[in-house]
Amino acid sequence: MRLANIAGRLTLITPAQLVVDVSAATDGRFSHRIDECFDRWDELIEIAATLEGEGSKPVTEVLPESFGNPAAPRQIFAIGLNYSDHAAEASLAVPDDLTVFTKFASALAGPYGQVELPSSTVDWEAELVVVMGRGGNKIAVEDAWSYVAGVSVGQDLSERTLQLAGPAPQYSLAKSFPGFAPIGPFLVTPDEFRNPDSLALGCFINGEQVQRGNTADMVFPVPEIIAGLSRVATLLPGDVIFTGTPSGVGVGRVPPRFLAAGDELVSYVEGVGEMRHQMTKAY
Ligand code: ZN
Repeated sequence: MRLANIAGRLTLITPAQLVVDVSAATDGRFSHRIDECFDRWDELIEIAATLEGEGSKPVTEVLPESFGNPAAPRQIFAIGLNYSDHAAEASLAVPDDLTVFTKFASALAGPYGQVELPSSTVDWEAELVVVMGRGGNKIAVEDAWSYVAGVSVGQDLSERTLQLAGPAPQYSLAKSFPGFAPIGPFLVTPDEFRNPDSLALGCFINGEQVQRGNTADMVFPVPEIIAGLSRVATLLPGDVIFTGTPSGVGVGRVPPRFLAAGDELVSYVEGVGEMRHQMTKAY
């Protein structure tokens, strides 16, 4: 099942590619607000599967700027160094355990639009984003996918100068400028994939492919991330996990390369779709 945030309302995309406003189609049984839907996720999915979208318009007629972020997290987790080729380009060791930071919620954004660059050292990180459908503590690896509402495309935009300043890395702050956590355009339930642990992902700058990876190469696959996080924190319905980026980021290049005003960044995950952002200058 494919869902989206269209004009701030939870929307189902039917197999015929029609858009159905879930709240309107269920006579208000579910809120139009996405953040209020995750607490009743299993019930929502059951009802949404019966909606056919007669008389609805095709998703291709929805304006890109209408799409918002399809998640509404109370907590955002992000995993660093989760692909060995990315750890190598960052000249860092592959970790023995999860490397975890957050992106503050004010950095969340939709899948299309502009991102203001606060400096000349902003880097790209295409990532698979996982959105929790059920919460829990001490979730077992083998049960983990059943706790997931869906996956989406994410960009973990990163201001490298701030990130690397000082004696300890400032991951969370340096990755939380406005617009630095775009997600979308669709939230796709795990059952839509033949193997949700093997999805191609990457990104392009001005048409040039700069990252090309596969989630099968994660050091800690999604079930291990969920088990590892929930060994400590209680995960809540709607929570977001940025699962790490493959190689090809700008800081690992010789010489380093960063995003510039006018650049178009296109990020994709197989079976989900692509996001498209234009960079503007704010410094
Ligand atoms: Zn990242």
